[in-house]
Amino acid sequence: MKVGVLALQGAFDLHARTLEALGAATVRVRTAAELADCDRLVVPGGESTTMSMMAERSGLLEPLRDFVGAGRPTFGTCAGAILLASEILDGRPDQHCLGGLDVAVRRNGFGRQVESFETDLEVPALAAAGLGDAPFHAVCIRAPVFERVGPDVQVLARVDGRPALVRQGAVTAAIFHPELAGDTRLHELFLLG
Ligand code: GLN
Repeated sequence: MKVGVLALQGAFDLHARTLEALGAATVRVRTAAELADCDRLVVPGGESTTMSMMAERSGLLEPLRDFVGAGRPTFGTCAGAILLASEILDGRPDQHCLGGLDVAVRRNGFGRQVESFETDLEVPALAAAGLGDAPFHAVCIRAPVFERVGPDVQVLARVDGRPALVRQGAVTAAIFHPELAGDTRLHELFLLG
């Protein structure tokens, strides 16, 4: 199994190193050919408008849509969650989304005063997968808010009552940065799924 990490911009390196520490073969994906080689994909945090622009320039938009549409497991975190959404609020007018997840997501939705914060999440899906019932430490950096989640979207964890970790089919998305938690369980869950 080869796990791609979209490496156009943002926090890709720490995701790749976390996956490698778990024994996964990883590919830093910058081209369609590199993506074609992958069975799974992590779309990291960073800046979704920049990632969208770079994906367009490097001819990756359609291959990424096809990858997600084909049901290959994909994990988007923060900006990556924005990229995977079907609708982006407060995006740039020319910003693209991949549409694997039936949600409306608002960029920087937590507002300026609380742009960045950390909190502990209860994630019952971790315990259900045998990964223990300790809370997961969520680092939220200019995090988005899922304002609407479609009927086929499962909410796996919440922050202040708002969905923070969601899953629809093979797509998982977090509003936070799991690669900064010092806790590999969400990467393990992704590799198991
Ligand atoms: N606010 C950023 C965006 O719009 C996401 C922030 C992050 O990934 N930490 O893409």
